[in-house]
Amino acid sequence: MNLPTINNSAGAGPLLDTFGRVHNNLRISVTDRCNLRCTYCMPEEVTFMDKQELLTFEEMARFVEIVAPLGIDKIRLTGGEPLLRRDLPRLVAMLCKIPGIRDVGLTTNGILLTHLAQPLFDAGLRRINISLDTLDPERFRQVSRRDGLDKVLEGIQAAKQAGFEPIKINAVSIRSITEHEVVPLANFARAEGLEMRFIEYMPIGADDWEREKVYFAHEILEQIEQHVAPLAPAKNYDPNAPAMEFDYVDGRGRVGIIASVSRPFCMSCNRVRLTADGKLRNCLFALKEVDLKPMLRGSATPEEIATIVRGNIWEKWEGHEINTARFVKPTRTMHTIGG
Ligand code: SAM
Ligand code: SF4
Repeated sequence: MNLPTINNSAGAGPLLDTFGRVHNNLRISVTDRCNLRCTYCMPEEVTFMDKQELLTFEEMARFVEIVAPLGIDKIRLTGGEPLLRRDLPRLVAMLCKIPGIRDVGLTTNGILLTHLAQPLFDAGLRRINISLDTLDPERFRQVSRRDGLDKVLEGIQAAKQAGFEPIKINAVSIRSITEHEVVPLANFARAEGLEMRFIEYMPIGADDWEREKVYFAHEILEQIEQHVAPLAPAKNYDPNAPAMEFDYVDGRGRVGIIASVSRPFCMSCNRVRLTADGKLRNCLFALKEVDLKPMLRGSATPEEIATIVRGNIWEKWEGHEINTARFVKPTRTMHTIGG
C-alpha cells in the first residue's frame, strides 16, 4: 500500500515537527535592550548587542515573507523592550502588509507606550500585552530595579484610548515577591476592563530559580476566588493558546493563567522564535539555535532559508524539562530571546 507523504523536514505543507505540532506562530524579538531590569528576566549589569548585530526591519520582513507561505500567520513583537526600537510602527505596518499575516501583536513593559499606543494602532497593531507585576511603586522598584509605575499606568490608559481591545496585563507570579499582588491586580484589571494574565515564574532569567519560588496557578486561582469573585472555565478559549482562561461568573472580566511550570503546554506549542540577532529558536528553552542572519543578509534564496526553518522545527523536542533533573537552563536569558 502506498502511504501518502505527510511531511518531512525538507518537504512542503505546514511547518510540522515530529510530534505532529503545526507551527503558525512567530515571535520576533526586535531588541535585547530594556529600560527596566526585572530580576526574573535579566541581570543588573548587562552588555547589550551591538546595533549592527540586530536584524534590520527589512531583514525581519524578508524572513516573514519567506515563512508566511509556510503557514506562519500570527506574529508577536517582543524583546527586550520592543518600544525602544526606533520607529517600531513602521515595522508593524510592513508586517501587516505581508500576504498571509492575519495578526500582529506586541508585548511591552508599557513605559514608552503613552506616545506610541496610537501610532502602533494606526499602523495595524491590534493585540497588545502590557507587563505589570504590581501596583505598588516600592514593589515595582524592587522587581524591575527601576522606577516607572506611573508611566506604565499612563501607557495602559493610552492603549485604551487608542482602541486596543482586549488589553492583556502580564504579571509574573513569584512566591512572596508578587504573591500579594494577585488580588490588587485582579481588582484593577476588572475595574479597568483589562484581561489579567498571571505567568508562573520560569527558569529563564539571570537569577537563581527554584521551584519553591513559583507561586502556582492553583494558588493564584484560590486567591482570586476567595478575595475577588468566583471564576468558571471560559467557554470560547483557544486550546492552542498557552493561557488557561477563566471568566468571572458575574460576567465582569476574564483571567488567564500561564502555568508553564505546573501545567506545561508543550504538546500544543505552535511557536517559533527569531531573536533580535537573527537566531531561530524552536523553543524558549532550546539549547540549539540556527543563525539565519548571514542568510538573510547574504544571497541565500527563499527556498534555502525555508528549508533551514523546516529542519529546525522538525527537530523540536517534545518539551522543556523544567520539572525534571534533566533540565538545562539556556545560556541566553529571557531578554535576549524574546518572551
Ligand atoms: N519587555 C517586554 C515586557 O516586559 O513585556 C517584552 C519582553 S518580556 C521578556 C516578555 C514577557 O516575559 C513579560 O511579560 C515578562 O514578564 C515575561 N517574563 C520575563 N522573564 C520571565 C520569567 N523568568 N518567567 C516568566 N515570565 C517571564
Ligand atoms: Fe525588560 Fe521585559 Fe525583561 Fe522586564 S521582562 S527586564 S521589561 S525585557
